[in-house]
Order: sequence, then C-alpha cells, then structure tokens
Amino acid sequence: MSRPPITNLPRLTHPDPREIIDGIGRAAPQGKTGKAVYLKELDYSVIQQCMHCGMCLPTCPTYDATKLERNSPRGRIALMRQIADDKMEVTEAFGREMYFCLGCLACETACPAGVEYGKLFEYARAEVEHSGVLDNPKRSLIRNVMLRGLFTNPHLLRALGRLIWVYQATGLQQLVRDLKLTRLLPKKIREMEPLTPTVKAQFSDQLIARVESPEKPRYRVGLLTGCVQDLIYSDVNRDTADVLLANGCEVVTPRSQYCCGSLHAHNGEIETAREMARRSIDSFDLDGLDAIITNAAGCGSHLKTYGHLLHNDPRYAARAAQWDAKLKDIHEWLAQIGITPPRPGVEAMKVTYHEACHLCHGQKITQPPREVLKAIPGLDLVELPESTWCCGSAGIYNITQPEMSKELLKRKLEQVDKTNAPIVATANPGCLVQIVSGLRESGREIEAVHPVSLLAKSYREQGREVPLRKPSARSKSDPAPAGH
Ligand code: SF4
Ligand code: SF4
Repeated sequence: MSRPPITNLPRLTHPDPREIIDGIGRAAPQGKTGKAVYLKELDYSVIQQCMHCGMCLPTCPTYDATKLERNSPRGRIALMRQIADDKMEVTEAFGREMYFCLGCLACETACPAGVEYGKLFEYARAEVEHSGVLDNPKRSLIRNVMLRGLFTNPHLLRALGRLIWVYQATGLQQLVRDLKLTRLLPKKIREMEPLTPTVKAQFSDQLIARVESPEKPRYRVGLLTGCVQDLIYSDVNRDTADVLLANGCEVVTPRSQYCCGSLHAHNGEIETAREMARRSIDSFDLDGLDAIITNAAGCGSHLKTYGHLLHNDPRYAARAAQWDAKLKDIHEWLAQIGITPPRPGVEAMKVTYHEACHLCHGQKITQPPREVLKAIPGLDLVELPESTWCCGSAGIYNITQPEMSKELLKRKLEQVDKTNAPIVATANPGCLVQIVSGLRESGREIEAVHPVSLLAKSYREQGREVPLRKPSARSKSDPAPAGH
C-alpha cells in the first residue's frame, strides 16, 4: 500500500490545550452555544485516548492544507475533550471545525495509541446538531428534506431517481448544459450540478432476482443494494451478484432495503441512524445467512458499527452484534472464501487502485481489493502514489466544502496521471462519483470502475454469465443449501 511520506513531523511535546485550540477555545463565543450531551455518552476512555504525539498530523488532509493545529486530529480531539469536560461550550466555530473535518479516518490508521477518531467524530457532529449552533432556516430545511425525508424513505428516493433519469435520458440535462442555463441556478446548486451522477434506467430489483443460486452453492449470503448505489450503480450491484454466484454463493437480495444510516451518523443524526440500523437488520434473515455483503466502502464502515450503535437497545443489541459479525465487504468476503480465478484469455489492461478512506482506514481492508484485481488474468495493477489520501468525496463533503474537495480531487487525479493507467478502480460509490466528475471536467480519457465490475467482466468474457444467473424459487424460510 502506498502512503504519503511522513515528513516534517510536528513536535512531540505535550501541547497545552489552550494553545492548540487557537482561535476557537479562547475566542469569545458568538451566537448560540450548547453544553455537552453526546460526547458525555461516550466512554471516557475514548475521550482521553489521545496522547498528543502528533503522529497523525502529516496524514491529515485538512492539516496538510492549512498547517493549523485546530484543523488537525490532535486539535479537534482536544476541542472535543474540552467540551466533554465542560471546560468549553459547543460554539459555532467548533461546529464549523467539525464540518471542515473530512471524516476520512486517516488519523485512525496513523495513531499509535489506537484513538477511535470515527466515534469521536460522529458524537462531536451529533453535539453540533443537538446544540443548534449552525442552525439557520435554509440549513434546517435542507437537512430535514434530505436526511429525515428523502433518505429515510426509499420510495421517495427512487421517485426522485426516476425524475432525474428522465431529465438525463431525454437529453434535457445536456441541453441545459449546452445552453449554459446552469448559470441561472443559485450558486450552491450551480457548483453541485457537474457532480450529478447518471441515474441508471433500471434499479437493482429489476436486475437481480430475490434469490439467485449457482449450480453448487457453498454459502448463502445477503446482498445490500444501498440507497444512492441502487440508483446510480445498480450495474455494480448486478456485477457483485454475478461475482458471488461465480464463487459458489447463493445470493439473497431482499426487496425492502433502506439506507444504512451512514449519512445520518456522519452528519450528527445519531437517533435517525439508529432507526435506519434497526430497519436494515429487520430486512435480513440473519440466522439463515453466512454473510451480509456490501460493495460500498462508506456504507460498510458504518454497517459494521451497528453493534455499538444499538448496544443500549434491549430489543436489538444481540441481533446488532450478530449483524456486525456477519457483515462483510465484498473483497474481504472473496479473500476469505478464496477467489475462483477467471480463466486466462482476456484482454490485457493496466489498472491503478484508489483506496476509499472507509475501506482502508475505516475497515482496515487494504489487500483484499488488490487480490481481487490481481486475480484477473491480463490485469496489470500499477500502484497509485498516495493511494490512501482522500479524493475529497467524503460523503457530502464535496457539496458542503467544495473548495477543499476540489483541491483534493485535483491532487488525486495528478497522482492517477503518474501511473499512465487508463482505468482507475475504487470501491466506493462516493469516490466513483467524485473521480468520474473530475475526469469528465478535466477531459481525461480515463475510466473509473469498481474492482468487482472488472472481475465480473472477466468472468463474462469467458461466457460464464448466463448459467450463473439462475433465479431460485427458494423462499426466505427455506433451509440453507448443502455445505452451509
Ligand atoms: S478524519 Fe481525516 S480530516 Fe478529519 S482529522 Fe482525521 S485525518 Fe484529518
Ligand atoms: S490522535 Fe493519536 S496520533 Fe494523533 S496526536 Fe493523538 S495519540 Fe497522537
């Protein structure tokens, strides 16, 4: 794995929190303030893990950009601790700082003390939302519509997806772009417009049967189709099902799937995230499955925390722990069961691999995606410099912090250029959308794909696609296949 060089290591002395909170802790708070609630809910051992060594600083993209201590993991953790200890109130400046953080978790990978920054980050953002320090009518409206309306209601989300598909498929979107009518849009929406991903004509339930079986099933797995993933990368879901079938897995894809709640958890809506976790657990027959598979790194990282999220819920705690144990990223699962190698004879191709933050830092999965790629005959994997450096997607960061996001995207594409690879593979829908938009905007003739799609393509080129897609009549309550 290629990591950015660790240079200019910051001082290793024990910094004075008042000093490292420059501009935030000492400034007189403006407007609304709030007391700690969520950060107090966290086990105090998590709050006090940081020993201020500074090893994480060179790996933090926001610190790298500004060289300000408050934009570093160490500075942010110090602020969170001050609030948890009631030495500082939640302020607007604190709120802005928490939303300037990408949540990329590079600091977790770098930290020798095992600081659980992901937990701290989620609880700190919940603190910001609970205190209302960033509230204004426009922001509240957008959050209510998006997080509590759209992303809790799959029917509404799909209806919006259909509308966008019509807008794109009829050529209206291109016409609007050609006539430069996007100039008439409000600034924020105008900036977001190039990021609009292409919605697929068919969603996952039109491409994948509820149960599909290979000739001789070795395992029975559930497939998560995601929310946005279902609209814009339903083909990747189909590819994932094909790869699972080719590897001896019966695939169960429930129709009633919900957003996993990662968007809510990462944006301070912990209670809604808990509700979405309960709904996801209810969608699957956990006892009848060997694993639950996700192909979206950002979702996977969150899906594996249901046990923590629901540990105080007497009705769901045990099932959430069972869920965590069965939840597998597709690459992780394939590496675990052994990848059925496609037969040689396919076209040679050069591919580089961008590591989605929530796969390499969030889930610590670095080798399995490389194993998947290397299993493809004729594929020449060229290592990407700074492969673990965030591409700037980071959930909705490319919408909320467009300048910083664009800088990171530019840096990522410059690294891709160095490899001379015509294909960049990455395993997260957010990264794919971000990189595809950057490639399109800059006119680069490079393709961005999910690693699993390349493996599925390789199986298909051997003519193995048709026999693999055998819808099974087995119902949810049917016994598991032989070898289960
Ligand atoms: S999550 Fe990323 S941006 Fe935030 S503090 Fe850690 S390394 Fe920096
Ligand atoms: S988060 Fe970890 S690496 Fe960073 S300063 Fe604290 S202990 Fe050191």
